[in-house]
Amino acid sequence: MLEGSCLCGDVAWRVDGPVSPVESCHCSRCRKSSGSAFLPMLAVKPRDFRFLRGEDRVQVFRLPVLRRPPGYTRPFCSRCGSPVPLLDPAAPILEIPAGTIDGDPGVETKQHIFTDQSVPWHDCRDGLPRYPVGVPEAERAWRAVLDDDA
Ligand SMILES: [Zn+2]
Ligand SMILES: [Zn+2]
Repeated sequence: MLEGSCLCGDVAWRVDGPVSPVESCHCSRCRKSSGSAFLPMLAVKPRDFRFLRGEDRVQVFRLPVLRRPPGYTRPFCSRCGSPVPLLDPAAPILEIPAGTIDGDPGVETKQHIFTDQSVPWHDCRDGLPRYPVGVPEAERAWRAVLDDDA
């Protein structure tokens, strides 16, 4: 079981199911949307996710495709601006900004992606795999954990 919430607490959610390792994205869009050197995300199955409160507070900012589909989607709490998950029951996975998790999700960071866009002011070389221009779909951190059932 995993729970997370936004900065003001109006939006909160719960996951009952497997959780993927964390994948940290260094792309400029993730940096700007998080205000940080990179954005760590983990993934779950949409069917295992539910909002405890505040789903009606979730708004979405979208940007067009930059290199390859899909475009960029940044759901956020309309009260405090925190990044939050966006539930799309039809999607294969649901990505959650790892910093919004309350407590220990029980997983670790697996890899860094889009490291060709890393900032010059923070050295995050931690020995984990790095994918300079994005990660092949087959190597996404969630594959081993969530790419199982049908
Ligand atoms: Zn909030
Ligand atoms: Zn990114």
